[in-house]
Amino acid sequence: MTTTHILGFPRIGARRELKRALEDHWRGALDADGLQAVGRELRARHWELQRAAGLDYVSVGDFAWYDHLHTVTALCSAAPARFGLGERVDLAGYFAMARGTPAQPALAMKKWFDTNYHYLVPELGPDSRFALNREWLFPEVDEALATGHPVKVVLPGPLTWLWLASAPAGFNKLDLLSPLLNVYYAVAEALKARGVAWLQLDEPILSLDLPPEWVAALPVVYGELAPAAPPILLATYFGDVAAHAEVLAALPIAGLHLDLVRAPDQLDTFLEHGPADRVLSLGVVDGRNLWRTDLTRALARLHPLKARLGDRLWLSASCSLLHVPHDLDQEDQLDPRIKAWMAFANQKLTELNTLKRALDEGEAAVWPALYAAARAIEDRRSAPSTQVAAVRNRVAALTDADTRRQSPFPTRIAAQQARLKLPPLPTTTIGSFPQTAEIRATRAAFKAGRIGEAEYITAMQAEIREVVDRQEALGLDVLVHGEPERNDMVEYFGEQLDGYAFTRFGWVQSYGSRCVKPPVIHGDVSRPKPMTVAWSQYAQRLTDKPMKGMLSGPLTMLFWSFVRDDLPRHEVALQLALALRDEVVDLEAAGIRVIQIDEPTLREGLPLKQADWPAYLDWAVRAFRITAAGVRDDTQIHTHMCYSEFNDILPAIAALDADVITIETSRGKMKLLEGFADFRYPNDIGPGLYDIHSPRVPSGEEMQALLDRALAVIPAERLWVNPDCGLKTRGWPETEAALRAMVAAAHAARADRFEHPAAVSPRREDRTAPVGWRRDCG
Ligand code: GLN
Ligand code: ZN
Repeated sequence: MTTTHILGFPRIGARRELKRALEDHWRGALDADGLQAVGRELRARHWELQRAAGLDYVSVGDFAWYDHLHTVTALCSAAPARFGLGERVDLAGYFAMARGTPAQPALAMKKWFDTNYHYLVPELGPDSRFALNREWLFPEVDEALATGHPVKVVLPGPLTWLWLASAPAGFNKLDLLSPLLNVYYAVAEALKARGVAWLQLDEPILSLDLPPEWVAALPVVYGELAPAAPPILLATYFGDVAAHAEVLAALPIAGLHLDLVRAPDQLDTFLEHGPADRVLSLGVVDGRNLWRTDLTRALARLHPLKARLGDRLWLSASCSLLHVPHDLDQEDQLDPRIKAWMAFANQKLTELNTLKRALDEGEAAVWPALYAAARAIEDRRSAPSTQVAAVRNRVAALTDADTRRQSPFPTRIAAQQARLKLPPLPTTTIGSFPQTAEIRATRAAFKAGRIGEAEYITAMQAEIREVVDRQEALGLDVLVHGEPERNDMVEYFGEQLDGYAFTRFGWVQSYGSRCVKPPVIHGDVSRPKPMTVAWSQYAQRLTDKPMKGMLSGPLTMLFWSFVRDDLPRHEVALQLALALRDEVVDLEAAGIRVIQIDEPTLREGLPLKQADWPAYLDWAVRAFRITAAGVRDDTQIHTHMCYSEFNDILPAIAALDADVITIETSRGKMKLLEGFADFRYPNDIGPGLYDIHSPRVPSGEEMQALLDRALAVIPAERLWVNPDCGLKTRGWPETEAALRAMVAAAHAARADRFEHPAAVSPRREDRTAPVGWRRDCG
């Protein structure tokens, strides 16, 4: 018999029930008992789905009120002392750490590997103590056991939890391994006593470049836990772990899970190295994407493996289904053809069962399901939308010349300066202005058909006019139209591009109660007509100052979408780049002199293993450059990035060759800039002068001080003055106050350095590239 299971199920609920309940609870509209009831109900429903789909185990422990890593923090009583929670972290304490209190900021949040899920970073130090708190996890285990279906408990492994924690510099987190193991040991022992069939410990850090001492800790951890625990399934995912094959082979674990979607080739190594009695759980269904599995192809690979492994063969999704939406059956407005190509979490459960039955009972037993899958796969392969000749030909015809601007930066910036006549230390913003309730209501009314297009356009134009007036009054130098027409920086463009589809309920958890609904790239991407030109042109007519056109870049469009899996991602990126390049060129033709291409995701697209970075950065940079390179020298290209930690990819950022980059720095108090200075970043740069994520308005002196720090490391001739991100989440009063202080700081610095207090005189033009700098490309 082949065993099927999943590493985890989405917890938020098919209709985001958990989100609603959490937010009600936080507002005080639902008490803790009410919240607990919603959690119990969701868990029961999700286990029942697994049981009904024929899975051999239900997974328990994947549910979390906010985040599964944070559940371990509570289970181990590892609350930082600053919260004053003591050993008994209860639900209120759990939320206090997750969301912050009036006295204490929340735990930091970080992206879970290369997903868009965020975990709460455990905060550890020399004084950290751990103790088992049985109010966590165990009630859920008992609920599951009561259903009578075999139970597999799922927890982040101790090494992964420890690795992802933060600690003061110089402190070796491995010093905490032994006390942490004591708690895991007690958990394992108690689970075994309760009759839990398996304990799945997730160690996704094995897909990273791991220092040897962490790899060396594996035998210690699992040697210690195995004797006390139910059979242990060690789960790896998100990448290839073959480098650790020998160490893994020697562990006293009963099973090993491998991600065969991300790293299909690693299996051979484990077939060779694996002990003869160990379960191999093969992740053959994609847990990161919403496409149907090619069951025929999967079976072709699985049949010989079944013959070889017998009952030791387990089947699963590549990783937890946390990263895919719940249920395709809810999608009543999706093009039926495209819908037939997809499988959400529920459908993936069924796929696993079909594979299992095909192996155990023969393919004839599941013939209708296999046939339906094969037809969908074949339909997708031959659908006109998945291979548009015009798009393919254009991508194939790309040459290096398409990645290059006409002239190098020093020539370009001189031409731009002659045309734009900006003062030194020019001021600008990142694009969006406050999205008031009124703006959102107008957009919703238009979408629902309650107002017509003419009325909608008039309302948005009025908003743009207001934003332009306010910027003029503030004395900003390069203006923006404020983006009132945009709901979201990816969806807005996706809706106007061919090759994109949108779901109604395709939500995936981002953090806590927050979910995102990524658009779906299902076919070849192209731009049927201009997307932003009319808005930008309207805005430019209202002012003599340069109006900055505003686009989302190809990488951001890629990473914040579900991407087709039948074409390499770098190809999809090139299609996006060409579509956006046309928009850039059209903006220029419409008289827009400055165009910003936002790429907040360049860094988050980095592969997990450093060895894969160069190849990624190569195609990512190429896609950006193709987007930008269609314009004349005197059109100024900006890019914008947030979420710090750029220092390790500075050469790639420079290779984008944007004329100006605006970046988030204010939270790091300009520390980031030192990296740019040491590296001698060659083009213009606008380090964010204040943090837009906080409603607090920094004083003029604070901004002045930050500007001075920036001036200390970046030549004044290349420095811009701007906030660190878009202002859409802010209100008008704080936005205006902050921008007024920002402009004043720029004017003061101008007076100081250039003897030009106001925005009149042109900038210096002695902008030769610094000695020692060699441009990567172009
Ligand atoms: N232009 C976008 C805005 O201002 C940029 C958003 C972002 O960087 N995430 O909202
Ligand atoms: Zn930003």
